[in-house]
Amino acid sequence: MTADDLIRSARAAGRSSLDESAGKRLLAQFGIAVPSSVMVAPDEPAGPKLTGLRAPFVVKVVSPDILHKSDAGGVRVGITDSTQVDAAIRAMCAHPVIAKARLDGFLVEEMAPPGEELVVGGLKDPQFGPLVMVGLGGIFVEVMQDVAFRIAPIERIDAHEMLSELKAAALLDGARGRAPVCREALIDVLLRVGGAGGLLLRLHDDIAEADLNPVIVSERGAVAVDARFILTPEGGK
Ligand code: ADP
Ligand code: MG
Repeated sequence: MTADDLIRSARAAGRSSLDESAGKRLLAQFGIAVPSSVMVAPDEPAGPKLTGLRAPFVVKVVSPDILHKSDAGGVRVGITDSTQVDAAIRAMCAHPVIAKARLDGFLVEEMAPPGEELVVGGLKDPQFGPLVMVGLGGIFVEVMQDVAFRIAPIERIDAHEMLSELKAAALLDGARGRAPVCREALIDVLLRVGGAGGLLLRLHDDIAEADLNPVIVSERGAVAVDARFILTPEGGK
């Protein structure tokens, strides 16, 4: 499916956002790395679907009623085999929040290599049009509001500057005994979101808000492990 098809089919289903699986397919269309994944139905044995995936896995609930999956008990990381995947899905189905939600199914995906968690986002400013943002995940964004914004489209030099502006930028250079993260991979993600050919500009009419939270950036690359796109109410061109 092309990006336009993904958006069209969400709208046809009466949705105002893309589910995580569709969101990640959209990112892949723009060359952004996402974990290999499969969707599993609540009552389906996961085993046969996992043959193309490499453990360890992550299991996540996919529901239009659940925005923050972890808060709802809907994310389990570090799962090593299909028996544990089935058990995680059963346990999630029994969770009170998940039990009463509408379910699209469960996303089973590969774990990204460990690294720093960043947030890359996009939104539409009524005055300036599409804006692209980046920040370090967790408390840096939520509590310290340590983020950098630019009007899209950005160029490579802008993406570099955005990262240098972050107060927590030192974490990218190998704090906590870690190797420095691959800044170029992160900059590529920023350009694929907010650059001239990036998704914010190309899908300007349809995407009201983009939230890649987190993008896990390791020594070798950057993988968007969560993706949320809110569609414009009007839609289309
Ligand atoms: P939500 O934000 O809805 O709670 P996420 O999909 O962001 O759910 O998952 C929560 C956390 O789990 C992420 O911030 C990340 O730390 C971890 N995580 C999720 N998916 C993966 C993955 N594929 N590889 C490694 N860690 C992951
Ligand atoms: Mg998330």
